Amino acid sequence: MLIPCLACESRFGPDEYFNACSDYNRGLDLVSWTCPHCGNRDDLRVLPGELGFGYPHRGRFAVHDRVRVPGLRRQRGELRLDISLERSSWRVHTRLRQPA
Ligand SMILES: [Zn+2]
Repeated sequence: MLIPCLACESRFGPDEYFNACSDYNRGLDLVSWTCPHCGNRDDLRVLPGELGFGYPHRGRFAVHDRVRVPGLRRQRGELRLDISLERSSWRVHTRLRQPA
């Protein structure tokens, strides 16, 4: 299973792909992803069996494109998102922001 970058179309194995995730936003339920190849930054939502790409819109995240990743699972935590696929798992932490 290889997962593509939607900007440069490079393809990554799950380990390389999910290690490039950072900053889980629990409110919008999305993670930031930075392409290791082209540096493109995308927001995506990890869903059961797929990744959803889209844009924040009126305080919500609207999914426009989906990439199927059979077997993908997710578990939301207080300040993290746990992603698992087959026997591997990755943890994406929420970056804590200073109060304004
Ligand atoms: Zn790329």
